[in-house]
Amino acid sequence: MSDVLTHGELHGATESNVILDVQDLKVHFPVYGGLLQREVGTVKAVDSVSFQVHEGETLGLVGESGCGKSTTGLAILRMLPTTSGRIVFEGVDITNYNRNQMRPIRRRIQMVYQDPFGSLDPRMTIGGIIGEPLEIHKLHGKGVERRARVMELIEMVGLRHDMIDRYPHQFSGGQRQRIGIARALAVEPRLLICDEPVSALDVSIQAQVVNLFQELQDRLGISLIFVAHDLAVVRHVSQRIAVMYLGTIVEISTRDELYANPKHPYTKALMLAIPVPNPIVEAGRRHQTIQGEVPSAERPPPGCRFHPRCPHAMPVCKEKTPKLLPEGDGMVACHLFT
Ligand code: SF4
Repeated sequence: MSDVLTHGELHGATESNVILDVQDLKVHFPVYGGLLQREVGTVKAVDSVSFQVHEGETLGLVGESGCGKSTTGLAILRMLPTTSGRIVFEGVDITNYNRNQMRPIRRRIQMVYQDPFGSLDPRMTIGGIIGEPLEIHKLHGKGVERRARVMELIEMVGLRHDMIDRYPHQFSGGQRQRIGIARALAVEPRLLICDEPVSALDVSIQAQVVNLFQELQDRLGISLIFVAHDLAVVRHVSQRIAVMYLGTIVEISTRDELYANPKHPYTKALMLAIPVPNPIVEAGRRHQTIQGEVPSAERPPPGCRFHPRCPHAMPVCKEKTPKLLPEGDGMVACHLFT
């Protein structure tokens, strides 16, 4: 039995409520160099990643910049070619789907982008922006009927009806991200891939947008993959969290287990980076930043990829790659648990 199925069973999931099943996904990119621009290496951006997302669930995907979390999201949408592995959505293997085959799937899986400034066409009103996917997919008729659907979406994301004829530059960053969310929801997707959807926003606005995702999930019963670079952001919105490091998942667990009892040294280091709201407690905390830089995905360290930065590294860690194995309420890839 594969690790993926074991993981699903650990959480009482049945195969019937799995909406997305990513199995041993690899996304490698060739590196060209020299005078003749020959292939001189490979960047292993995503290297044997497996996880499932269930109906109505939010999976947080967390890790430092360059760990492969956004690449994973783009590969699921077939916006990047996969090197190997399988992507099964609603029971259908879409791994090798071409652009035409992906068209109906793209309606079921939508993406919310990080940059609410760059992702909206400045020449279009928000009514036009939110209505565009309805036009592409020929949904909700035309004219009055379509405008009514756009109004409904505007209201759903907490904006006012009278904003429908305004342009993106007339909105704040948080409001623009709400417009991006309305556009993604227009075609009634079953899975939203949210790629760092709040990291470009002011901290004061981030919580409002995270709350909006939670409200929408409760109301619509959709599934979310919520990509973020820190654990604080995904805490309130995720039921399960996968921690990625240098193209691999190092720990995946329920939110409660991960925060109460993080196991992988990298997860623990990410936890220590979360500020505590109480200033007295915060002042007394031992701040421990992760030593060193993230190594290159072109030449990942042998054995455990985290070993050059790990305070618990043992000789075996430099030689043997730890497998992602069941531990407690989740799974962890670390020789401390083998
Ligand atoms: Fe640290 Fe070794 Fe565990 Fe890697 S396998 S996280 S180096 S203890």
